[in-house]
Amino acid sequence: MANILVYTLHYDGAINKNSLGAVSESTRLASELGGEAHAILVGENIPDELAASVGSYGATKALVAEGPEGLAQPVVDAMAKAITDGGYKYAIFGGGLLGFEIGAGLAARLGAGVAMEVTDVRVQDGALIAERPILGDSAISEKSYRSEVGIVIGRLNAFEAKQTGAGPAAVERIQFELSPQSTQATMITRGEQRGAEVDIEGADILVAGGRGLGKPEGFKLAEELAQAFGGNSAVAATRAVVDAGWYPYSAQIGQTGKTVAPKLYLAAGISGAIQHKVGMQSSENIVAINKDANAPIFEFSDLGVVGDLNKILPKLTEAVKTKRGG
Ligand SMILES: Cc1cc2nc3c(=O)[nH]c(=O)nc-3n(C[C@H](O)[C@H](O)[C@H](O)COP(=O)(O)OP(=O)(O)OC[C@H]3O[C@@H](n4cnc5c(N)ncnc54)[C@H](O)[C@@H]3O)c2cc1C
Repeated sequence: MANILVYTLHYDGAINKNSLGAVSESTRLASELGGEAHAILVGENIPDELAASVGSYGATKALVAEGPEGLAQPVVDAMAKAITDGGYKYAIFGGGLLGFEIGAGLAARLGAGVAMEVTDVRVQDGALIAERPILGDSAISEKSYRSEVGIVIGRLNAFEAKQTGAGPAAVERIQFELSPQSTQATMITRGEQRGAEVDIEGADILVAGGRGLGKPEGFKLAEELAQAFGGNSAVAATRAVVDAGWYPYSAQIGQTGKTVAPKLYLAAGISGAIQHKVGMQSSENIVAINKDANAPIFEFSDLGVVGDLNKILPKLTEAVKTKRGG
């Protein structure tokens, strides 16, 4: 029998969708291992009802640890204690930046094996095997664990949240101590990122911007075009601009971002790196605007426009408005 502990991120009274996906996946795996999936929530004043709600996704128990909210190190402390005390065999994370940071820290703390960017997990001979795409998603590598505890960190949105209809989970409040390094960082402010509410995975039309937009304000051109399209349109971004702080991570497409397949993907100032391509190549129609006629994105575009996006995007926006208006 092997129980699984699932990290459950919550914010503003709601549990993150990725975490619920990890709970569902852990429930499936735990039942095949003959064990149970338990969730852990770390934060301040977490209500019992919120913790118990993971039961709808299959967890039988929710551990609640009172500690600083939204920081990685305190969660590493809490999970390390829970795993040691509770004898958990595996810890599973739904992904996301915080998940990666906590999972990696936990692996270092426990001397545990860790598989990151996992897209599938299965049980074989009573143990977990984690699958991770490699080489730009062109091959799959399989990881098994030799360590006492195994850690699985999913790729963002890899695990689907499934409501099983089970009742509320039993809530257990646990105590843990903060290690000295956990008090070195404090949360100054926490809030929603610009554009975070946009569901780029569900959008029919995506206007994606890259470094060719020149500066953060360049995204205004992309936003105006998306707005002109109206309906179910949104703005997406490359990792280069997300890393530069020009646009929120929630809008990132690609290997380390989201995978999308809209009806129209309009790429403005995007070179078409393989890591970007794997996140959008299934789009129905790909249109690229790039001033470099040799940009790789043209190799997998249905329509390529060679030119300066600063001139083309405003004209396109006007044309779309005119067309839609008339
Ligand atoms: C492990 C790993 C994971 C990664 N994951 C991702 C990921 O998930 N998503 C992702 O996107 N990237 C990812 N990357 C980064 C990826 O390799 C590229 O660096 C990135 O996609 C490039 O972003 P870009 O196209 O915006 O910038 P660039 O490559 O700099 O391209 C900018 C383009 O804009 C064009 N341009 C410039 N000015 C204009 C103008 N005025 N008008 C028109 N065109 C113009 C240029 O010709 C150029 O082609 C990852 C990399 C690694 C190593």
